[in-house]
Amino acid sequence: MEDCLFCKIANKEIDSDIVFESDNVLIFKDKSPKAPVHLLAIPKEHIKSVLKISKLDGSIVKELMEAIGKMALEFELNKEGFRIVTNTGRGAGQSVNHLHFHILGKRKFNWPPG
Ligand code: 5GP
Ligand code: ZN
Repeated sequence: MEDCLFCKIANKEIDSDIVFESDNVLIFKDKSPKAPVHLLAIPKEHIKSVLKISKLDGSIVKELMEAIGKMALEFELNKEGFRIVTNTGRGAGQSVNHLHFHILGKRKFNWPPG
């Protein structure tokens, strides 16, 4: 995907503050954090959203989720709780059309979300 911001981050064409990397998964700090800890977890392979997740190898989805759990522990989000968010579609606030999971922690989260 030529013009995809997160593909460029995955390919290291654009710098990011990477906290986890494997062959298939990248986790980096959000450049405009909405919580004291705000990470973004992506598959390196371009897919647009959860609606296209069947295009991904199932083992990549597992790897992505395991990496999210690993980072939650590494950033010590497990004690107070944390939130994983995937905005999907414009109405829900998705601004980058490459599947990503926000990992937010170290503050209080309201329910239901806004
Ligand atoms: P969305 O709005 O699609 O749910 O989430 C996109 C996220 O990407 C936003 O939280 C935004 O701050 C973050 N973001 C946008 N551009 C960049 C960038 O160039 N680098 C990093 N690290 N994060 C970005
Ligand atoms: Zn992409």
